[in-house]
Amino acid sequence: MFLGRPKGRGELEPLFVLTNVRKVYKMGEERIIALDDISVTFDKGRIYCLLGKSGSGKSTLLNMLAGLEKPSGGSIVFRGKPLEKLSEKQLALYRQKYIGFVFQSYNLLPTLTALENVTLPLIFRKIPKKVRNKRARSMLKDVGLTNRSKHKPSELSGGQQQRVSIARAFINDPSVIFADEPTGNLDTKTTFEMMDLITGIARKSEQTLVIVTHNTELSRYADQVIHIRDGLIEKIVDNNETPAEPDGNEADGDAADKNELDAVESEGNEADINNTGANETEGASDMNTNGGDV
Ligand code: ADP
Ligand code: MG
Repeated sequence: MFLGRPKGRGELEPLFVLTNVRKVYKMGEERIIALDDISVTFDKGRIYCLLGKSGSGKSTLLNMLAGLEKPSGGSIVFRGKPLEKLSEKQLALYRQKYIGFVFQSYNLLPTLTALENVTLPLIFRKIPKKVRNKRARSMLKDVGLTNRSKHKPSELSGGQQQRVSIARAFINDPSVIFADEPTGNLDTKTTFEMMDLITGIARKSEQTLVIVTHNTELSRYADQVIHIRDGLIEKIVDNNETPAEPDGNEADGDAADKNELDAVESEGNEADINNTGANETEGASDMNTNGGDV
């Protein structure tokens, strides 16, 4: 349920600042304007709903935020760093370190157990097995699946599979979780259970959550509902009645956080990225295959 946690504008800290973001796909002669001109801020620890009809540009926007696709114009700044300045390797590391994904179709690896699926992001970060399994068990407990850890995805219901994918999304303690139509394949009752679960975990750890949906019923879970239509923001509704910030670029973010991202950059130039080997590429692409062209 929506657990209102109103914040004054002064307490908010921008995580993503988007300015005039545009995405045009060229299909032969045709130009498809997926995003026309998007300027918006996503603050730390808030829950957002990107609401709009099919084809309005929601997934495209999410893919840009995740660095899976590059804007045709405009800029996306994450904790003070423009994403366009990061190389592909740095972007992969950025996703590993800061982002959790939840997909409509769960995207679990079919040959792995629930526990193994949840540990995947930790394998890519080379966390020792004992630690991985301990953390994964604790995550499975949080999502109510303690007694399903040895089950393969095919032995789980849709709702249970989505719980596993939620556990996987949160296990790295990401700054932001992107959920693209997370309840699209679920019945109404399971939909609300899943929304309670994902928003509950995000609120507890003050993580930013961006939920993409065409289902207006989900908007009440968000602090802010961003209505998207034809690649434009139609309106922004703030459920906490804090005045919406159109393109808030007034705050600088936290200096320590910026340093962290600098660390990612230098890690990206060094061993971490190169040492993770084939698994990383395989896993990263598996977790990020959401229609991106990267
Ligand atoms: P939504 O997620 O809101 O349903 P999308 O962001 O997937 O919408 O798509 C927005 C528009 O961009 C649609 O018209 C879609 O057909 C188009 N589009 C999305 N991805 C691509 C792509 N890779 N190539 C060409 N057109 C695309
Ligand atoms: Mg979509």
